[in-house]
Amino acid sequence: MSIISKKLVIAKFGGTSVADYPSMLNCARIVLSNPFTRLVVVSASSGVTNLLVELTQAHVNDERRVQLLKNIAQIQYSIIDNLPQSQHLLALIDSLLNHMSVLSESLILNRSKEVMDELLSIGEQCSSILFNEVLKQQGEYSQVFDARKVMRTNDQFGAAEPDINDIFRLCQSELLPSLNNTRFVTQGFIGANEQGRTTTLGRGGSDYSAALLAEALNATTLEIWTDVAGIYTTDPRLAANAKPIKEISFSEAAEMATFGAKILHPATILPAVRKNIEVFVGSSKQPESSGTWIRTQVNNAPVYRAVAVRRDQTLLNLHSLKMLHAQGFLAETFASLARHKISVDLITTSEVNVALTLDKTGSDSSGQQLLNDALIQELEHHCNVKIEDSLALVAIIGNNIPNTTGVCQQVFDSLSEFNIRMSSQGASQHNMCILVAEKDAAAVVQTLHRDLFEGLS
Ligand code: ADP
Ligand code: ASP
Ligand code: MG
Repeated sequence: MSIISKKLVIAKFGGTSVADYPSMLNCARIVLSNPFTRLVVVSASSGVTNLLVELTQAHVNDERRVQLLKNIAQIQYSIIDNLPQSQHLLALIDSLLNHMSVLSESLILNRSKEVMDELLSIGEQCSSILFNEVLKQQGEYSQVFDARKVMRTNDQFGAAEPDINDIFRLCQSELLPSLNNTRFVTQGFIGANEQGRTTTLGRGGSDYSAALLAEALNATTLEIWTDVAGIYTTDPRLAANAKPIKEISFSEAAEMATFGAKILHPATILPAVRKNIEVFVGSSKQPESSGTWIRTQVNNAPVYRAVAVRRDQTLLNLHSLKMLHAQGFLAETFASLARHKISVDLITTSEVNVALTLDKTGSDSSGQQLLNDALIQELEHHCNVKIEDSLALVAIIGNNIPNTTGVCQQVFDSLSEFNIRMSSQGASQHNMCILVAEKDAAAVVQTLHRDLFEGLS
């Protein structure tokens, strides 16, 4: 009986997990400790995508460009220094670094999104080659698999949407048959359109890549290895008393990811839900610490599970007397937003006003903003538009929130010292959202965490 017909594990390692040679070595041990882990998905080494994004920016002068290229090269060479000297490996990495330099030059003349994606993909291309060498150094016969052979997307460079049917078909024919005999290392974040042009899935997209591959290969388990020991009650960088969560439902985890818990890319959970694939989140530095399991059924469903925050939110306040007793105003507004590929999060309405929040962090891989002048002009055709920036969306995530007496009172009591610009509750069983000033975001999260999770009040 083949090994993958019993169990198939896909392991994804984030940027900090493949930041340098010692970190890669930790990941190699995790991979090699489980014979069912047949496919490894890696992000670019920590910091590399940020440097590449900077390379795509119009304002970067020649001197800075050279510096950025050097910094990226240094990260790769410091890993190569720990590997058995191989001309072949050096030539591979050097040719990618040369390609990076050529692409960054060509962007000076033509700021093409297609070229930007090709450039951004180099981080993951390098880390996959290097991680594969680390596995080979540990005695494993593994190979690099180019994700672009199977990760079929549309043409939306910078924020490409995967084609689930094509990915399934390609994974089943190009990848699955070989997994029995060989372990593969592939790239997160990158894909290709029908013509084979490189695309990217948006920042943090490696989690999503891994989940899509797990779905297309009918994997039993998806492991997300990162720099913290699982999903916590809030970002442990924000609240020192945040506690790891042992088990969480798909719905709760999806809400957390959507509302800013950076630990998971917002789209990660969907493919796992579609195929009921259990997801594990753990620390590649401390693989023995228990981590978090995300499953359909979990043993407990507390009212308060976690607090998440999404910064850099914009509030659009639309005012029009046309709204009075009229139909179709919201439809027109949403059609404009959809044309500009902007999704709305919170919404409140009065007779002549609509206030809605937009997520600016949902911009594309190279950081281009979605909220643009063309959209604002379009909206101004049918209403007055007021824009407020520097806001943060804080989400209280849990279970049965709209039907639990006292939640609103507890939340508002806890936050009596802060101005709540907008609030929303009732649509989802799993969340209550409030909009606050960006400057208050950290204190709001800490206060809520203290009062709802630490029982100190
Ligand atoms: P990776 O590079 O492995 O994908 P990320 O930086 O994208 O890692 O995500 C991990 C980070 O997510 C953590 O370092 C932590 O600061 C942040 N984070 C935000 N919310 C949470 C949470 N609720 N639990 C754990 N980590 C969180
Ligand atoms: N390297 C990409 C980024 O930094 C994708 C990822 O890490 O998930 O956004
Ligand atoms: Mg991430």
